[in-house]
Amino acid sequence: MVNKENKFLFFGNIGLRGKLVVTLFIGIFLISIVFGWVRIKIEQDSLRASIEAAGSGRAKALAAGASNLVAGYDYGNLEGLAKNLLNQPDVLSVTIRNDDGRPMAEFSKPGSETGLLFDAPIKFDKEEIGRASLRVSTDALEKATSAAILRIIIEQILGGILLSVIIYMLVSKIVVGPVRRLTEAMESAELDNEILGHALTFEYNDEIGKMVQVYNRLTHTLSEYHEKLQQKIDLANQALIDKNKELEKALVLVERMATTDSLTELPNRRHYDEMITLSIAQTERYGEPICLILFDLDKFKDINDTHGHGAGDDALKHMAAILRDNARKADIYARLGGDEFAIILSHTNETAAEIFVRNLQAALAKLPYSNHGVTIPFTLSIGVAQYDESMMSPQGLYFAADKACYASKRGGRNSYTLYSKLPIEAKGEPHVSK
Ligand code: GH3
Ligand code: MG
Repeated sequence: MVNKENKFLFFGNIGLRGKLVVTLFIGIFLISIVFGWVRIKIEQDSLRASIEAAGSGRAKALAAGASNLVAGYDYGNLEGLAKNLLNQPDVLSVTIRNDDGRPMAEFSKPGSETGLLFDAPIKFDKEEIGRASLRVSTDALEKATSAAILRIIIEQILGGILLSVIIYMLVSKIVVGPVRRLTEAMESAELDNEILGHALTFEYNDEIGKMVQVYNRLTHTLSEYHEKLQQKIDLANQALIDKNKELEKALVLVERMATTDSLTELPNRRHYDEMITLSIAQTERYGEPICLILFDLDKFKDINDTHGHGAGDDALKHMAAILRDNARKADIYARLGGDEFAIILSHTNETAAEIFVRNLQAALAKLPYSNHGVTIPFTLSIGVAQYDESMMSPQGLYFAADKACYASKRGGRNSYTLYSKLPIEAKGEPHVSK
C-alpha cells in the first residue's frame, strides 16, 4: 500500500535523493518547455512588429517620394525610384499605381510571391492620386526567429540546470539531510540496543520534526510497555522459581515417601530392593563379603489380639528404634512389610553378622517393648546369609536368608540360623523361594 504511488512512478527502489532529482527534472523540464514556448512567441511577435513597422514606413516613404512624380506623370523618375528601392536586398517587388489602379512603375525579383506586402496611399494636395506598394522578404524575420529560438533554448537549458541545482541543494538541505540524519540516529540507536526510550533531538517544526515527535512518543510508550512487560516477566519468573522450589521439595518428599515406611519411618521394601542390588554389584566387583539378615517378630499377632492394633503398631516402632540404634552407619536396614525387617551388612562376613545378631537380640532383651507401663516382650526369629556366587542374584540372597529365618521359626523361634549351617536338604536351591 505504501509503495503504490512509487510503483506507479516506476522508481520505488530509488533513494529519496534520486526521487527528488527525477521529480525536479520532470517539473523543471515541463516548466522550461512552456516558459520557452511563451518566450519564443513573444520574441517572434516583437520581431514581426518591428519588421512590419519598418515595412510600412518604407511604403509610406515610397508613396511620399512618388507623389510629385505620379502627379506629373513622370514615368522615367518613377521607374528610377522603384528600381532604386528594388535594389535593397530584402525588397522583392515595388509597384506604383495611379488612382485608376493602373501600374505606372512595376518591378519584381524572382520568387516575389512570398514575403510581406506593404501598401500606402500616394497623396497630392491631400487627395489620393495612387498607391505605392512593396513586398519585403521574410528571410530576415525567419533567421532572426531561428536565432532567437536557439538562444532561448540554450538559455532555458542552462537556466533549468541552474534552477535544478539550486532547488536540489535546497531540498537536500531542507528535506533529505534531516531525513538522513533521522534515519542515521534511529539506526545508531537501534545498533546501541537503546531504541526503546531513546529520544531523538530535532529542532525542525515541520513534517520531519513531527515525525521525530511521533517517533519519540512511540519509543517512549514502547519503553513503558517493555518495562511493564519485563516486570511481569520478572514476577512470572520469580513465581516460576518459587513453584520450582516447591516442586523440588515436593519431589524430595515424594521420593522420601516412596522409599520410607510411614509407620516406623524406616526405609521401606523399595529402598531395600534398590540397595541390595547396588550392594551385590559392589560385592561382585570388589570381592568384599556381604551379609543379609532377615528377622520376623515372633507371635506378633498375639500382641495385636491381646493389646490392640495400636499397641502392635507401637511395638513395630519400638523394634525400628532398636534397629536404628544398633546399626552402624554403613549398614542398610528396612521394614520389608508386616513384622518382617532386613539389614544389609556390607564388608561383613557371616561371623561378624552373627555378632551383630546377638547384639540386636541382647538390645531387645534389655529394652523390651512397654505399653503404658506394661512390658510386652517379644522375640525375633532371625536368618543370616552371606552372599556367594551360587545365589546368583539379590533374590537368591533373600531366599537364602528367608530359609534361615524359616528354620529359626521351625526351630522354636527366638533364635537365629546361619544359612551356611543349614542341612543341605533345608537349603534347597538357594535362588528358589520356599
Ligand atoms: P510367627 O511367629 O509365625 O511370625 O507368628 P506371627 O503372629 O508373627 O505371624 P505372622 O508373622 O505371619 O503375621 C504377622 C502379623 O502382623 C499379621 C498382621 O496382622 C500383623 N501386622 C502386619 N502389619 C501390621 C501393622 O502394620 N500393624 C500391626 N499392628 N499389625 C500388623
Ligand atoms: Mg511374625
